[in-house]
Amino acid sequence: MPELPDVEGFRKVLGSCAKGRIIQRVDVRDTGVLHGVSTRRLRDAVEGRRFTEPERHGKWLLARTGGPTLMLHFGMTGELVCCHPDDMVEAHDRVLFTVARDRQLRYRDQRKLQGLWLADDESEVARLLERQGPDAMAVSRKEFEDVLSARRGSVKTALTDQSVLAGLGNLLADEILWRARLRPTSRASDLAEADCRRLYTHMRRTLRSTVAAGCVPPRDSWLTGHRDDPDPACPRCGHSLRRSRVAGRGTVWCPQCQ
Ligand SMILES: [Zn+2]
Repeated sequence: MPELPDVEGFRKVLGSCAKGRIIQRVDVRDTGVLHGVSTRRLRDAVEGRRFTEPERHGKWLLARTGGPTLMLHFGMTGELVCCHPDDMVEAHDRVLFTVARDRQLRYRDQRKLQGLWLADDESEVARLLERQGPDAMAVSRKEFEDVLSARRGSVKTALTDQSVLAGLGNLLADEILWRARLRPTSRASDLAEADCRRLYTHMRRTLRSTVAAGCVPPRDSWLTGHRDDPDPACPRCGHSLRRSRVAGRGTVWCPQCQ
């Protein structure tokens, strides 16, 4: 499932594939991914415009055009790929943006849980993002402590709730909590100041390495590298990892060091 590092990777794909280029043609192969906009209105709005510097907020990608903004969300299975227009169109290629004779940006998504929105202006961008908390990469330590201390539920729930903090998903939250040695079920509002600080520090570090990797990599020294093992052991202390459901998601942690 795309989390902040994956979407940051899609932002880079958009930048390198299409930034500065004119959108020559938009092909919508599946209108099921369009939200609040028809194929015709989408084409009228963006064809002939140029992609400018893309932005990201949490798991949202903002494809700027100097006028309307395309807002992309990748749900569980979405991605953005840079292709040649002659490349075979795959079954899950839903919207194609031709930006050069040899370049085509494709929104590819199997499950179509989210998709594309068109924001005509900044107030519409703000409206689409109004339920998003601060971006996990951009949030300050103070703001982070404030949003966590205001939550009643578990720290895992707080970290993965996009309206509290935008960008973290299931893998990242488990990885960060494991590094910070905090139980996913601890109450967010009960965290001591030192715990909160450690959590913030590990969130920053984990985001830095995952953004560089473009995903949450299943490295051997990481919790993520072991969570799907048949009999998973903690890569730090060797104790058996525990699995349960927290915040409605499969959660993995080490009962020994967390
Ligand atoms: Zn452990």
